[in-house]
Amino acid sequence: MTSKDKKSEPNDSSIVASRVSQKIRDISPYSVPRFDCKIRLDGNESPFSLPKQVQEKVDKALKGIDINRYPDPEAESLIQIISRVCDFPKEGILLGNGSDELIGMLITTFTFGTGRILCPAPTFSMYKLTGLAMGAEIIETDLDERFDIDLDATISAIEENDPDLIFLASPNNPTGNMYSASKIAEIISVAKGIVVVDEAYSDFSGYTFLPLVKECENLVILRTLSKVGFAGIRLGMLFARENLVTEINKVRYPYNINSLSQGVAKVVLDNHEFVSENIQLIIRERDRVYNALSSLERIEAYSSDANFVFFRVDDADTLFSKLVEKDILIRNFNRPGRLENCMRVTIGTPEENDAFLSTLGAILSS
Ligand code: PMP
Repeated sequence: MTSKDKKSEPNDSSIVASRVSQKIRDISPYSVPRFDCKIRLDGNESPFSLPKQVQEKVDKALKGIDINRYPDPEAESLIQIISRVCDFPKEGILLGNGSDELIGMLITTFTFGTGRILCPAPTFSMYKLTGLAMGAEIIETDLDERFDIDLDATISAIEENDPDLIFLASPNNPTGNMYSASKIAEIISVAKGIVVVDEAYSDFSGYTFLPLVKECENLVILRTLSKVGFAGIRLGMLFARENLVTEINKVRYPYNINSLSQGVAKVVLDNHEFVSENIQLIIRERDRVYNALSSLERIEAYSSDANFVFFRVDDADTLFSKLVEKDILIRNFNRPGRLENCMRVTIGTPEENDAFLSTLGAILSS
């Protein structure tokens, strides 16, 4: 742990104590443990780089960018391509420096009512972290034993608290499952605030709520290019009714999508056939990894609709260290409560998945 990763001391009498809110001082930062492993199955990224012909087009596009100039402030031509590829009106699209930035923009825009944010938990930590940093109150409802939404508890919490924002990650991270579509639809119809369906992993589930935006004025969809091959360019996409996008756009930083990211994104979206092929391969590999994990005696694996598999072991900390010793990095979620001894493995290339499965088997039987 570096000094950057620490919470501040409660009796700190420095400028930090006098000028930083207690809410921010109490937050544990979003931290990505860095281990120098050859096989990295920890970040839910794609294991595939660009095909040669697309790489050449990207190189050419990058060469043509004037980096002494600011980027297109509205990323207009990129939004036009996204509008065509996703079949969604361009007035309803907003881009972020990763969907992380869009989560922040949503919280800045929509916490003026009750100041409350609701999310089922466990889920993606940035909803809570960003919400707390911005002074919101976070209400968490427990997911049920299959990690689906507990509808009765969630509806009661909505009626009681009237949250300004509800975040539903479907498929959910870290559990990997989609929530029941009927439960999401019920929440959208009951909520008086904004419901954000975070579809960061929907390319791997084949299910989307995007068409429902036409009918529901309180629905916002988040997507990202990070999971399908382009985590490095940090491009998140928000889809909503135009009147919501008009307001959210007011809190967007100028030029938030840099010109290199705009340039790369335009090329890959104009040449996206290879992305679909990679997604199909990841889905096949995910099911193979899930089946292999399920067949192991001391592992409880949860079926996944995403590009990773969530599972529980007897002793996650020891297994994590032994895998790192063998140059394999996965994500250890072990902490008291629902996530005790839970781990998440991102689907890699077939060779990486084989290496993970055989090393895991050898560790467990040793
Ligand atoms: N939503 C979910 C559910 C995620 O798991 C992640 C990435 N871990 C994000 C959003 C953020 O993605 P991005 O890289 O676009 O910021």
